[in-house]
Amino acid sequence: MKNKILIANRGEIAVRIIRAAKELGIETVAVYSTADESSLHVKLADEAICIGEARSKDSYLNMNSVLSAAISTGCNAIHPGYGFLSENSAFVEMVERCNITFIGPSSKSIAQIGDKSSARAIAKANGVPIVEGSDGILEDVHEGLKIAKKIGYPVMIKASSGGGGRGISIVRSDEEFLNAFERTSMEAEISFGDKSLYIEKFIESPRHIEIQIIADTFGNIVSLNERDCSMQRRNQKMVEETPSPVMNDILRRKMSLAAVKLAKAINYVNAGTMEFLVDSKGNFYFIEMNTRIQVEHPITEAVTGFDLVKEQIRIAYGKELSFKQRDVKMNGHAIECRINAEHAMKGFVPTPGKINNILFPGGIGVRIDTHIYPGYEVPPFYDSMIAKLIVHAPTRREAIKKMRVALEQFVVEGIHTNIDYQYLIMHNTDFIKGQYDTGFIARFNVLVEAENRE
Ligand code: ADP
Ligand code: ADP
Ligand code: MG
Repeated sequence: MKNKILIANRGEIAVRIIRAAKELGIETVAVYSTADESSLHVKLADEAICIGEARSKDSYLNMNSVLSAAISTGCNAIHPGYGFLSENSAFVEMVERCNITFIGPSSKSIAQIGDKSSARAIAKANGVPIVEGSDGILEDVHEGLKIAKKIGYPVMIKASSGGGGRGISIVRSDEEFLNAFERTSMEAEISFGDKSLYIEKFIESPRHIEIQIIADTFGNIVSLNERDCSMQRRNQKMVEETPSPVMNDILRRKMSLAAVKLAKAINYVNAGTMEFLVDSKGNFYFIEMNTRIQVEHPITEAVTGFDLVKEQIRIAYGKELSFKQRDVKMNGHAIECRINAEHAMKGFVPTPGKINNILFPGGIGVRIDTHIYPGYEVPPFYDSMIAKLIVHAPTRREAIKKMRVALEQFVVEGIHTNIDYQYLIMHNTDFIKGQYDTGFIARFNVLVEAENRE
C-alpha cells in the first residue's frame, strides 16, 4: 500500500507538514473549512477535501469529518499538527481503531501525560520537581480554597485540559478565589469541554524553558535541548530562542535527563516537549508536556540541523530515529518571532482581513513558515498567527541583528500586524542582555520604547 497522509490542520503548520511529506515522497491530503477554500495548504496538497463550516467545532474539531476524509481518500496516516485535535486522546483512539497511523504518540500516552494534572502526578512519581500545588483535580471550590490557603497566595488556577495560554487565572486572595474558580471552570468547559481545575503556586518572574524530545519505537529517546519561551503575552509565547541566554551545561543536562526520564516512564513515542519554569536561582519545575509538534520547533531545527517533522513521519511509519543523542550538537543561535494579525498598539485586537501585498525578508539564515500570500484574506475564525520568522546566526548578537533586518524588510499591506512591536522588542536593552522573564511584555511600555527609537 502506498503511504498517504491526511493533514488534520490548517495554516502554516499544514504547509510545513506538506513540505516534509513531499520531500519524503509521500502523498498528502489537505482538509479545509469553507472559510479556508483559498488557503495555501489546500493548493499545495495533492488532494483537498472540505470538512465543514468555518467554525472550528464544525470542521477542524469534528472528529467524524476528519476521519471520514482520511478513509474516503485512502490515507494510511494522519498528522495532527498543533492545536485542534492534536492532543485529543479520544480522537487518537478512534484513529487507532480505524487502523490508521497517528503521527504522534499513542492515545494512551496522551491520556496519561497530555492531561496537565495527571502529568504532574507522573512527574512527581518519577522524582522530577513540580510546582507546589494540588494533588490532582480539585473536587470543588472549598477544596481549592483550602489548598490555596495552605500554599499561600498568589496561586494559579489552571484547567487540566488547557492549552494555548487559556484557562489560567492568577489569584491573590481568598476574596478573589471564588470568582476566579467559577470563571476559569466555565472558560475551561467552553474552550476544552472539560472543567477540571488544579492549583499551582504562582512563581514570580520565572523563565519558561522547555526541552524538545523525540523517541522512536526502538527505544531510542533523544533530547534536542532547550528553547527559551519566556517572551510571552498573557501566557502565550511571542518570541522564542535557543540556546537560552540563562542556560549552562549542568542545568541543560539536568533538564534533559528529567525530560527523557519522563518520556521513558510512559513509553512515549514521537516528538514531544516538556515545559518547565526556571526561577532566578536556577531551580526548575515541570509544568506540562505538549504531546505534539510545537509552534517553535524550527529554532531547534536551525541549531541542530534535524528536520523534526520528517522524523515524526518516519518514526510513525516504523523507522528508527535517524540520529542518536551523541549526534545532537547546538550550532549557533536561533530566534523565532511569531507574526500575528493583530493591532499591537491597540490592545492586540485581532485584525482579520485582506492582505493586499507582501514582501518577505530573505537571505542567509532567514526562514519563513507561513500560509499567507498577496491577496489572501485572513479569516476571523482561527488563531491570529499568520507567519513565523526564524533566523539563525553564529551568535545571539548576530541573530538579533539579523532578526531586526528581517523584520524591517517584512512588509504586510492591508492589515495591521505585530511586526513593529517585535522590532521594538529586538531593540530593548534587557532583551539584548538576555535579561527577561515571563512578565517582560506586561511591563513593556511600547510607546516609550517607540519614542526612544525615534
Ligand atoms: P506551542 O506550545 O506549540 O508553543 P501554543 O500553546 O502557542 O503552542 O498553541 C498553539 C496553537 O494550538 C494555538 O492556536 C493554541 O490556541 C492551540 N492549542 C494549544 N493547546 C490547545 C488545547 N489544549 N486545546 C485547544 N487548542 C490548543
Ligand atoms: P498552556 O497549557 O496554556 O501552555 P502552561 O501550563 O504551559 O499552559 O502555562 C503557560 C504559561 O503560563 C507558562 O509558560 C508561564 O509563563 C505561565 N505559568 C504557568 N504556570 C505558572 C506558575 N505556576 N507560575 C507562574 N507562571 C506560570
Ligand atoms: Mg504550555
